Amino acid sequence: MNACIGFGSASAFILQPIKIPTSQRPILIRNPRNLTLICRAESKPSNPSRRNDMGGNKPTRRNPRKSSYGSSRRSILKKSFTQEQVIFTKSVPEDPVVAIIGGGLSGLACALSLEKRGIRSTVFDTGLHGLGGRMATRAIDPQPLIFDHAAQFFTVGDSRFAELVNGWLEKGLVRQWQGPIGELEAGGCFVPLPSLSPRYIGVNGMRPLADSILSETSMVNMVRPCWISKLEPFNGMWHLSENGKPRGQFDAIVIAHNGKCANRLLASSGLPLIARQMKKLELSSIWALLAAFEDPLPTPNSRISTAFEGAFVKGVDSVSWMANNTKKLFPSQSGGPHCWTFFSTAAYGKRNKVPQENIPNATAEKVIEGMLEGVEIALGLSKGSLTRPFYTRVQLWGAALPTNSPGIPCVFDPQGRAGICGDWLLGSSLEAAALSGMALANHISDYLQSGGSRPDEFAIGLHDAFQPIEGHDIGQFPGLEFKEQVAEFLSSKT
Ligand SMILES: Cc1cc2nc3c(=O)[nH]c(=O)nc-3n(C[C@H](O)[C@H](O)[C@H](O)COP(=O)(O)OP(=O)(O)OC[C@H]3O[C@@H](n4cnc5c(N)ncnc54)[C@H](O)[C@@H]3O)c2cc1C
Repeated sequence: MNACIGFGSASAFILQPIKIPTSQRPILIRNPRNLTLICRAESKPSNPSRRNDMGGNKPTRRNPRKSSYGSSRRSILKKSFTQEQVIFTKSVPEDPVVAIIGGGLSGLACALSLEKRGIRSTVFDTGLHGLGGRMATRAIDPQPLIFDHAAQFFTVGDSRFAELVNGWLEKGLVRQWQGPIGELEAGGCFVPLPSLSPRYIGVNGMRPLADSILSETSMVNMVRPCWISKLEPFNGMWHLSENGKPRGQFDAIVIAHNGKCANRLLASSGLPLIARQMKKLELSSIWALLAAFEDPLPTPNSRISTAFEGAFVKGVDSVSWMANNTKKLFPSQSGGPHCWTFFSTAAYGKRNKVPQENIPNATAEKVIEGMLEGVEIALGLSKGSLTRPFYTRVQLWGAALPTNSPGIPCVFDPQGRAGICGDWLLGSSLEAAALSGMALANHISDYLQSGGSRPDEFAIGLHDAFQPIEGHDIGQFPGLEFKEQVAEFLSSKT
């Protein structure tokens, strides 16, 4: 077995392959196909500007390969099975800094909780329009038309999430959604769900909640838009870069995003256990259609006559959810355009999947037509009778929601000083994302504050099996047991 050990010197920081006598070899080889990379240099910090032409200064790997960026899924999978495990042995500094890659709710909750434990972090996020990931809200000028683009509302089950939500309530950023929400059967039968469990929305949409978390912090550095494309262990630290541009050095890293992008990033990072867990994750794809209408949509022919604001759609192939953002966000507004968010079913998303960053016009048109037809079917309208929206926009959430989960709050590899948080570890909701971020922050804080000398005590979630997730196509809403509630409601009406 070869191992790479870093030797610091004034002029260079060299990671060279050396032969180690069997008795002295590190033992942390869980996957026999992995090589082990030990990062232990204690010398001058490396010069990030030289990192890209370091040549021999780079960690030596068994099979040096070209960058995985842009590689096929097959080669990504292969690489992450054969990559080396990195082991940090350098002691943790007194004032460590953590890099968090992903500024969705899980990454932000992680940053906030790290700060509460006195630990600094830098959050990197790709968001061009703003922070928050799948807590996206779109404002289309000049009117503006406002749409919650992914997360629509949330419920609260856990006291730690409740604390965060109470802070938002106190600041007036969140309120309960009182408008009728229910199930809409194809043909226009709407059954409201009784509000046994409060349903919360962002007063101005979901995105401001992400901004508010950041505004509460003073030890969190935000870098956006930034797409971290490489993680390299070097000289006892993680070096991050964006397409060759150095983005800083960190004592520990958090992967707070998932899907293809995370698989690519982890494929050659030196974190095979983390990469393997991430790869087990399966995600649905969902089309979102944002549409603005001049007039209200026709009220369904429900036996319970009520104009609804949000509905889980049943029995329609192309639509699983529809909500009137205008009624939801501005209940006292009369007249004006009606901005609706429609989501496809996961099955429709899968059948009509295309690269989300490059949607062909023909597919966009087909999806708009297919989803508007689905709206007609859901409302019980005849084909072609729905008044055309004056504004439409489609987006594919290619990595929309997890369909399986290990059911653990977070994953942490203490040897590699790297963790994962995200909704998928606990389910598929904003609450799951927040709880996962908080859990990882506390776990990393405990580890860093231990000095890093007892790594084995801190390994978590590296081998847990995944189970399928149940719930709606747009996630889980703890506290809303739909079937039981609908049955209860219907029996109370007969
Ligand atoms: C269509 C849809 C509807 C939903 N509806 C609801 C709902 O009504 N209620 C509910 O509770 N939940 C809902 N959800 C789920 C909810 O939105 C998610 O559970 C939650 O937002 C996930 O947060 P996260 O931090 O785990 O991930 P994300 O929000 O996905 O955050 C990850 C972030 O990382 C960034 N990123 C990715 N790669 C990189 C990189 N290499 N470098 C830097 N940054 C990177 C991404 O841009 C993103 O901002 C819905 C989701 C979808 C898709």
